[in-house]
Amino acid sequence: MAVRSILVQVGVDHAGKAHNCQANAKHRIEKGDLRLKIRNGMGWDHYCKSCANQIVAKAFQRLRELEPMTPTEPSSVPLGA
Ligand SMILES: [Zn+2]
Repeated sequence: MAVRSILVQVGVDHAGKAHNCQANAKHRIEKGDLRLKIRNGMGWDHYCKSCANQIVAKAFQRLRELEPMTPTEPSSVPLGA
């Protein structure tokens, strides 16, 4: 049985053509540069390496929060509801 991945919507590839980073239009991604791609609806958003570092760091932080399986807030839903 496969373990479900929650990161299937993320990947890294090389830019097929030069374009701007989707987080900041001042960030230029040149053709062939590594970029982080994140699924967005039917398409993909692409981010430059410096934005990717921040996005990945944030994801690590989030995963560390999830790892101990501690509820983030007390459940107000009565059991059996
Ligand atoms: Zn960027």
